[in-house]
Amino acid sequence: MNKTSPTIDFLIIGAGIIGITVALELRRRHPQASISVVDKEATPGCHASGRNSGVLHAGFYYPADSLKARFTRDGNRMMRRYCRERGLSINPCGKLVVATNDKDLAGMDLLRERARANDVILETITPGEARERVPELRDPRAVLFSPTTATVNPGEILASLVKDAREQHIDVRFHKPYRGRQGNGIRLGNDRVEPGYVINAAGLHADAIARDFGFSQTMAIVPFKGLYLKYALKNHAIPMNIYPVPDLNNPFLGVHYTLTADGTLKIGPTAIPALWREHYHGFSGFKAGDMLDILRRQGAMFWHDPFHFRTLAFQELAKMRRGALLRLASRLATPPGPAAAWHWGPAGIRAQLLRTTDHTLVMDFHFEGDQHSFHILNAVSPGFTCAFPFAQFLCEQMAVLTK
Ligand SMILES: Cc1cc2nc3c(=O)[nH]c(=O)nc-3n(C[C@H](O)[C@H](O)[C@H](O)COP(=O)(O)OP(=O)(O)OC[C@H]3O[C@@H](n4cnc5c(N)ncnc54)[C@H](O)[C@@H]3O)c2cc1C
Repeated sequence: MNKTSPTIDFLIIGAGIIGITVALELRRRHPQASISVVDKEATPGCHASGRNSGVLHAGFYYPADSLKARFTRDGNRMMRRYCRERGLSINPCGKLVVATNDKDLAGMDLLRERARANDVILETITPGEARERVPELRDPRAVLFSPTTATVNPGEILASLVKDAREQHIDVRFHKPYRGRQGNGIRLGNDRVEPGYVINAAGLHADAIARDFGFSQTMAIVPFKGLYLKYALKNHAIPMNIYPVPDLNNPFLGVHYTLTADGTLKIGPTAIPALWREHYHGFSGFKAGDMLDILRRQGAMFWHDPFHFRTLAFQELAKMRRGALLRLASRLATPPGPAAAWHWGPAGIRAQLLRTTDHTLVMDFHFEGDQHSFHILNAVSPGFTCAFPFAQFLCEQMAVLTK
């Protein structure tokens, strides 16, 4: 791209997993089109796509009529195949979901129902069988086993997809921030371009960019920070992922054990309300306007208290202490080693969409668009798992809008 406004058929803002898989799907549909993906950062994976848990979810958490349910099962299968074909790391270790009290038992029934409706394998095993697989389990009331849950290395996959895109003559540029609209064009860094169609896959900033195009009028992103504790040693007796039964009224799955693709054990994540969009640590990414905006939205959530936000916020803040997080994990299974062997890993931030009209969280993926632009909002977990079939679906929606 240069300053003379070259023609680009499709301009995608954001080179995360969503932007790149959408670019690849557009290439499949439009072999001759010029496609550009721009990202403000210097390298791939600086935000959610490089900072997530790396779990390929199976698809039993989501109601059957949701987009998440539609794409998780197939996304899991497609991402596993992609990893196999490219020789990328994958740990097909599976996952236990553990009920520790009576309330959890009702939650488990709902998970079984959703697994059936979504055609996802979810086995009920006895606590004894579960203990044979994970001797460190703590006195479970009931246990489910998901054989198709796996873990991958998200950064490795994203780098491979960027390479695929470049090989398919998709122009992927880093250090190219979207800076706003200018007449019929778009300002990208110091350049101005006039793309045929704009696709906004900007993660934490997608709502602000959407507003420049007249969309996301009653929606706003509120950031939630996810922190993990990492176990320093590889020799431990936890051979798979272990999750609690989640409260399906809130979008977070609760503190769990993740066994990464390279066998590292992690506990987390938290879901702490972040004070600005890129509030990873200290004052990184600080923007005063951003903070005031986010604080205003969090204040409204605190006041109106939808989905018990007040309780959630206090519970999550308490998890910032290592001891508290380890205690929560020990309800599922005894954490190996002394507390000093657990260290905080890099934070990730969820770009969670909020309805500003009633202060409720949007639970499903969300998108808006017209014949000129398309905006992908709320690509929250399990967005990484869903990426391939979700990108196909998004491109179908764009085709309908531009017909
Ligand atoms: C803590 C955490 C744990 C998670 N765990 C899982 C999991 O286990 N499994 C799973 O399936 N999903 C998980 N997810 C969800 C998953 O990571 C996301 O759904 C997915 O990464 C979203 O991808 P994206 O491309 O929309 O966003 P991003 O990866 O954030 O990409 C957006 C890109 O847009 C760029 N950008 C932003 N503004 C601009 C601008 N103005 N100009 C140019 N570029 C811009 C950014 O630099 C960024 O690279 C998790 C997420 C988090 C935060």
